[in-house]
Amino acid sequence: MSAALDLTAAEQARIRAKTARFAPPSARLPDGRRDLVGLSRDELEGEIVAAGEAPFRARQIWHWIYHQGVTDFARMSTIARPLQQKLAERFAIGRPACAADHTSADDSRKFLFRFRDGQAAETVYIPDRQEDRGAVCLSSQVGCTLACRFCHTGTQALVRNLGAAEIVGQFMAVRDAYGEWPSPHGETPRLLSTIVLMGMGEPLYNFDSVAQAMKIVMDNEGIGLSRRRITLSTSGVVPMMDRAGAELGVNLAVSLHATNDALRDELVPLNRKYPLAELIAACRRYPGASNARRITFEYVMLDSINDSPADAHALVRLIAGIPAKVNLIPFNPWPGSPFATSRPAVIARFAEIVMAAGYAAPVRQPRGRDILAACGQLRTESRRAAGGGA
Ligand code: SAH
Ligand code: SF4
Repeated sequence: MSAALDLTAAEQARIRAKTARFAPPSARLPDGRRDLVGLSRDELEGEIVAAGEAPFRARQIWHWIYHQGVTDFARMSTIARPLQQKLAERFAIGRPACAADHTSADDSRKFLFRFRDGQAAETVYIPDRQEDRGAVCLSSQVGCTLACRFCHTGTQALVRNLGAAEIVGQFMAVRDAYGEWPSPHGETPRLLSTIVLMGMGEPLYNFDSVAQAMKIVMDNEGIGLSRRRITLSTSGVVPMMDRAGAELGVNLAVSLHATNDALRDELVPLNRKYPLAELIAACRRYPGASNARRITFEYVMLDSINDSPADAHALVRLIAGIPAKVNLIPFNPWPGSPFATSRPAVIARFAEIVMAAGYAAPVRQPRGRDILAACGQLRTESRRAAGGGA
């Protein structure tokens, strides 16, 4: 293994160790039952075998949980009643509780989900205006460590990581809300056709749980979402980008926002650790990036900060040769935010320059601003308990 790869492995281990104290609560309920949601297939089989049942039962149960969406063992009609009862005594099929649910004037919908330990995170459903489908924007952490200057979530200290059950649970609870079970096996899912990991938190600082949750939603005997329908957005945790590419192969979105280190250091403080040259190199080697599967660069449009024609030209030079598109995100204000949104004419000029260089440069329409559901507006009142362990 090369020195560079050694370093990456060490760095990955360091990130994991550092975030371990922000672990989610145990999968065991107060009454001793084990929540089956969020377990990998192998872990689920291990639980079922430990309960004295045949391994094929795990496959049946997986189908009921992730294809049919049942939360009650009594509805598992391929399983005889005595076994249903035995399972119900030992296991649970959990969902986060919906603590609030707001629909925007533009039909996007924000859910506040509360987890077993009382912590909460927000999830947003964004319907496609033209078609009968939409995206679910999932949170990966309660709060965020990274404090990007323009982001509301960044003003909330990291409370804890979400577990795989809580990440996949957000998606399943939104499916419950839209009655989209059973999973449209083999067809393109209808309403909830896409997942974007763009809610609260930095998914690559909680990689293990995010990866486990995504493997569950991608499993063909369950929800069956293709990796092409999943986009993971990162502020640029370079060593974990390689792992995300190798282990998940989902679409990658990178929150760029600035084209020189001096400005990016200010806007995205993580840049001080992983500067632009390293970030762009990681994008260049991201597996599967091609013209069909482009990397998305997200670029928040901040009035007079990063929105000049010179910035647009610098952006084009920076990403030259990467199969990419550039999502221009008009800054979404939040209470007390220190920036203003670029004027539409300025955004249009910026987009023209990027497009003239051969990149798609859609301007992301703000969705759900009225209910603080748009990009960068999510925040909950959760706090980390004094003295540590959440
Ligand atoms: N932590 C990850 C994913 C969550 S943020 C990341 O930073 O990529 C999802 C996207 O919203 C990111 O591109 C982020 O930079 C952007 N964003 C954050 N605050 C915003 C705001 N106030 N207005 C517009 N976009 C914002
Ligand atoms: Fe965290 Fe992303 Fe917000 Fe930055 S933009 S503070 S990484 S959630």
